[in-house]
Amino acid sequence: MLVVMQNHATPEQIERVVKVIEEMGYAARPMPGETRTTVGLVGNDGRVDSSRVESLPGVAEIIHVSKPYKQVSREWREENTIVTIAPGVSFGGADVAIIAGPCSVETEEQIVAAAKAVRAAGATALRGGAFKPRSSPYSFQGLGKRGLELLALARRETGLPIVTEALDEEGAHLVAEVADCIQIGARNMQNYSLLRAVGRINKPVLLKRGMAATITDLLMSAEYILAEGNGQVILCERGIRSFDTTTRNLFDVTAIPIVQRLSHLPMIADPSHGTGLRDKVIPMARAAVAAGADGILVEVHPTPDRALSDGGQSLYPDQFARLVTELRAISSAIGRQIAGPPETLRQSRPGTVGARAG
Ligand code: PEP
Ligand code: MN
Repeated sequence: MLVVMQNHATPEQIERVVKVIEEMGYAARPMPGETRTTVGLVGNDGRVDSSRVESLPGVAEIIHVSKPYKQVSREWREENTIVTIAPGVSFGGADVAIIAGPCSVETEEQIVAAAKAVRAAGATALRGGAFKPRSSPYSFQGLGKRGLELLALARRETGLPIVTEALDEEGAHLVAEVADCIQIGARNMQNYSLLRAVGRINKPVLLKRGMAATITDLLMSAEYILAEGNGQVILCERGIRSFDTTTRNLFDVTAIPIVQRLSHLPMIADPSHGTGLRDKVIPMARAAVAAGADGILVEVHPTPDRALSDGGQSLYPDQFARLVTELRAISSAIGRQIAGPPETLRQSRPGTVGARAG
């Protein structure tokens, strides 16, 4: 961190900056220049709180040389982290993984039909919310524990690993008992006690970008999980709020290559919440894969018109199947490939369930 002093900063003001830096436990190196002095902070371990120095008299600006996040950065770890949620289902390698399924788990018939349809089309994992973070308290809140049981049933029926959301610490433990990957949704991206809780659970976490979060905010939130010891984090772009109400959110495709440069963690994209409009999901899913996403998360419902949540952005199964075919072509054009089925399904004939179903 560099503290740039104002042109006419007095020696006393510079000395005060030096003292405060030293009080914070770091070494200070004043570097007098032709017109102004800069004070370098040495020994920055990535967690310096600059606010104490920022407001001191004579300080013009603070330049952060190292990133505010540490363990999530590429400086910390150069090679990609590969997060494996089930045997043969990984994020961050050459394969592009597809997580698909309904917004919410509604009934046994619905989730099993969705799971079978997305598996047949080539999905690598099943999504579906049992605990739903709805903007309105009067909207369907999910089936809770029963929803988790139905997800476990759908996994037994299809062999697909499960990605589902936890809303709070207690829910995180319940979800962890069933899910292969715990989703932390946009509304909870800055729920630091929940982030710490999943950081202490030995289970992969899918962390979605908050709707008003910067890329730095997303990476700082991931840092909370890594700081607690859980390095299995997948990041997800899902659109941010904008002034334009034409779409539900503004799908930030640029975030994909930016995050991949800044962090070693896998970065996937959710064009369903990113656009909120069924006919825009397909082009944006193509764009996400073309931009280098390590996976996509898409809402698919057997009967979207009857969905209890997000029906308007959910794909029909046949649309999803066409999308996967297109994504195969896009992946191969950029030297990647759509991930195959989970290992337990690789030996089995189509229509049968792998060993995991036992
Ligand atoms: C979801 O995936 O169903 C969901 C609620 O997403 P988000 O947290 O991105 O709104
Ligand atoms: Mn949804």
